[in-house]
Amino acid sequence: MGEGMKTKPLIITIILEIVLIAATIIIYNPFLKLKLNGNATIKISIGEKYNDQGAKASYLKEDLTKEIKVTNKVDTNKLGEYKITYEIKHGNSTRKATRTVIVADLISPEITLKGDSKVSTCGKEYTEEGYTAIDNVDGDLTKDVVVTKKSDKIIYSVKDKSGNKKEVVRILDSKDSTKPEITLVNSDILTFELNSTYKEFGAKATDNCDGDITSKIEVISNVDTSKHQVFEVTYKVKDNAGNEATAIRKIKVYNQDDLNKGYTEIVSGPTYIKDILIVNKKYAIPKNFQVDSTEAKAALEKLQADAKKEGHSLPTKSAYRSYSTQDALYNRYKTNKGQEFADKRSARPGHSEHQTGLAFDIGLCSVKLGVMPEGIWLRENAHKYGFIIRYPQYKEAITGYGYEPWHVRYVGVEIATEIMTKNITLEEYLGIYDINA
Ligand SMILES: [Zn+2]
Repeated sequence: MGEGMKTKPLIITIILEIVLIAATIIIYNPFLKLKLNGNATIKISIGEKYNDQGAKASYLKEDLTKEIKVTNKVDTNKLGEYKITYEIKHGNSTRKATRTVIVADLISPEITLKGDSKVSTCGKEYTEEGYTAIDNVDGDLTKDVVVTKKSDKIIYSVKDKSGNKKEVVRILDSKDSTKPEITLVNSDILTFELNSTYKEFGAKATDNCDGDITSKIEVISNVDTSKHQVFEVTYKVKDNAGNEATAIRKIKVYNQDDLNKGYTEIVSGPTYIKDILIVNKKYAIPKNFQVDSTEAKAALEKLQADAKKEGHSLPTKSAYRSYSTQDALYNRYKTNKGQEFADKRSARPGHSEHQTGLAFDIGLCSVKLGVMPEGIWLRENAHKYGFIIRYPQYKEAITGYGYEPWHVRYVGVEIATEIMTKNITLEEYLGIYDINA
């Protein structure tokens, strides 16, 4: 009996414990698990894309991840602290987890200096050229820039509202450490006929501190047009601080044979270089080759109309010529006056730009046109319509032709402008001229 008295409370204790464990399992289910992927707190920059890594949920071996309810109100375009909540329910049990996402301004403002970041002050006081400051969040912060002047530099600093700092420095060099700039008048390659008179076009020079120093240019030249060779003319200039700049011009003294060199190594075309059809004494086009010249014709009409408005008459004297017309023209010269004369006055059939329909002879077909008002207008304005003066003066050995101020070739406005500005020829533009050849 005594034993039975002891056993009864023990059974009650065991039952109570089982009930308690069961209740715990039912109320707080230890087998239901919820775990965040990644960190519980994440900081990102405003505007940055946020990809939530989510969470994992399971009950014993069962994967419940897909059943997690996520509440995500993160707005990456607004500064702030956001909570993402994850909730999983299973039976009567629920698990919750939270992640904090802080959208902050982590990017410094940008300071942009007007003018160079390294300036030669030429011994004078520096005059501020200006600056701007822009922040990704606060916008224009130019007014908040603090400028600190020192003898050899200026420090520009600014802070955005989130405390991100930016500093930019402008270096002041009191000495003039910049070379002058030399610009040649006319091209850097010119050609002169043997025994003709050499003309020195000179150069211009400007310096960042001294201004126009053209008068200080020293020209070193040994050009001798009685010698059939290539010469170099050197232009040198020094600024007051002793910085020296040099430019070189090449001068080719040519003879009549040089003009017809192209015919000794003919390339049967059509040849396009940089999308430009090249026709000269070396590059020929086939007998029945046709080009669409609609655009060129329209451009010529516009040029002629605009010239007229300014009182200049530039009528078309010659446009498209067929192979057979060119053949007849060349052979008439050849029969009457010989090949040397024919080659001087005309292109051999297959070698005339007129066969492309992209070349036109306009105005007076004489070198006189070059000094007449309409000829000067044409030289200065042709590029605006996409034309170049195809055979300029002092470029004879390059083009293979004497000066023809009346012969224009259509290449389009962009290329014509470049050729005109650089005082070069189509051959130089296309890189098919070798001065030493
Ligand atoms: Zn012509």
